[in-house]
Amino acid sequence: MEEVGTGLLDRLDAMQRVAASAPGGPLLIVAGPGTGKTRTLTHRIAYLCAELNVYPEHCLAITFTRRAAEELRHRLDGLLGPVAEDVTVGTFHSLGLTILRENARAAGLPTTFRIADDTERATARAEAGDDDATYVKLLRAQDLVDLDELVTLPVELLRDDPALVERYRDRWRWIFVDEYQDVDATQYELLRLLSPADGNLCAIGDPDQAIYSFRGADVAYFLRFSADFVDARLVRLTRNYRSSAPILATAVQAIAPSSLVRGRRLDPARLDPEAPLVGRYPAASVADEADFVVRTIDDLVGGLSHRSLDSGQIDGRTSDISFSDIAVLYRTDTQAAPIRDALARANVPVQKRSHNRLRDRPGVSVIARELRHADGLGGSVAARVRLAGQVLAERYAAPTLDVTGGVGPEDIWSAVEVLTPLAQRCGDDLASFLGQLATGAEVDALDPRAEAVTLLTLHAAKGLEFPVVFLVGCEDGLLPLRFPGSTPTEDEVAEERRLFFVGLTRAQDRLYVSHVGRRLRHGQERDCSPSPFLSDIDPGLFERLGDTVPRRPKDRQLRLL
Ligand code: ATP
Ligand code: MG
Repeated sequence: MEEVGTGLLDRLDAMQRVAASAPGGPLLIVAGPGTGKTRTLTHRIAYLCAELNVYPEHCLAITFTRRAAEELRHRLDGLLGPVAEDVTVGTFHSLGLTILRENARAAGLPTTFRIADDTERATARAEAGDDDATYVKLLRAQDLVDLDELVTLPVELLRDDPALVERYRDRWRWIFVDEYQDVDATQYELLRLLSPADGNLCAIGDPDQAIYSFRGADVAYFLRFSADFVDARLVRLTRNYRSSAPILATAVQAIAPSSLVRGRRLDPARLDPEAPLVGRYPAASVADEADFVVRTIDDLVGGLSHRSLDSGQIDGRTSDISFSDIAVLYRTDTQAAPIRDALARANVPVQKRSHNRLRDRPGVSVIARELRHADGLGGSVAARVRLAGQVLAERYAAPTLDVTGGVGPEDIWSAVEVLTPLAQRCGDDLASFLGQLATGAEVDALDPRAEAVTLLTLHAAKGLEFPVVFLVGCEDGLLPLRFPGSTPTEDEVAEERRLFFVGLTRAQDRLYVSHVGRRLRHGQERDCSPSPFLSDIDPGLFERLGDTVPRRPKDRQLRLL
């Protein structure tokens, strides 16, 4: 056994090893972006199971998204083998759902309860008006619960039932929470109920990446971990394995003015002297910015594959960039359209995702309902989604039917496209797929293997990494975001800066920031100035792009001929 354990931790650096092999009790891992939080977390679980005889079924790992949960599960499989299946891995929502399913009767729910879709919620809302008590009653009459109740109901249940608390504490003796900086009050209360103050709670995160306060998250819970949990051990990870040195230096300077981590350090593990500077492109217009993105992508993907063919001069990992290595990030979802259209015109495949809930996307609820009706069919979920899409698109194309609530065939097809990777991952398990539709975010449906450029809101990009990143729209008014007639508070600006930091730190090898001179915002063409966050960065870290970017034919097919 010892050999297994030692071998395990060999793949970690000294501080990661300290974190992974720390003894039981509360443990807070404060770690900047790219410092290997996921690697450390999975190795800690593997180490505890292999070395300290912890049972995998006593472990509960909570991640922020379904996709992160899948990734964690996958890596645990690699480290632990089949027993990894016994570790409970999920999001707060899926954890809440598990607790509710196991205690449906005590929670006053039938065992057949399900999560309300948006039509069902809207109907209940319309009937109940502002009266939240009535709203819940209407849902209950149909055996439905609201998504938000997936965490509040278990909290209420546990609050009133110390014996139940004991049962869960006995079951999940080791709890791990990733992205702890973004827990909200209810999630925090659930954790406090599940873990005693001296329990084996391991929280991992980075206060400087707290970006979800608009959803009720509060970084204060992270900052007071040591006060909440007895004799908490603190480990810091400061070595960044993700980004090139110039990218990291840029990000560190960007966050410095409002860092929440005293003595924040982030040291580059990658010290390639050839690493390119961060490209900065001042675009004249939105169209010009989109054109810059397309040109540069074409240059990186097309140009470099040419070069490697004839000269063999390959500069390491950047010589074979494919579309799947590239992400375009932006502050607001509406910024995606011009970029997506420009890429489409150049025949570059894209997958676009936001941080919004999947079920809020037009078309998703009707597909879910169609699938529940036709539940008896069996077969792969992906095939059933496609079939449901066909049926619905035909039905909704008929002009006489006005039952669609504004959903058209295009919405159906685009929803089918978004849902397909998720459906494929679910195999034949329709129930699991429907559960994910109800609780998941769009970004959960990202296909990491797709040969496509990924378009993401900054919020959705959290936790992900890409060899090439474009951060577009780095302008005052977008970063920080400002609405007409209102000035963001100091705290809001700080959160926007953290969002900017999250964006910059997604990049591994190449990072481009751009801003436009004029943009249509709130129905009006306005002059824009670059984001004030850019002025906090040493200009020497940027390479100013403009005329220097070689123009290439826009149509990829032309070049193929
Ligand atoms: P974020 O805050 O953005 O979520 P993170 O701390 O979770 O970042 P990871 O995604 O776990 O970072 O790791 C970043 C990258 O660094 C990954 O590609 C990972 O494989 C690599 N990495 C982590 N630790 C090591 C290590 N000890 N040796 C080599 N590579 C490592
Ligand atoms: Mg992470």
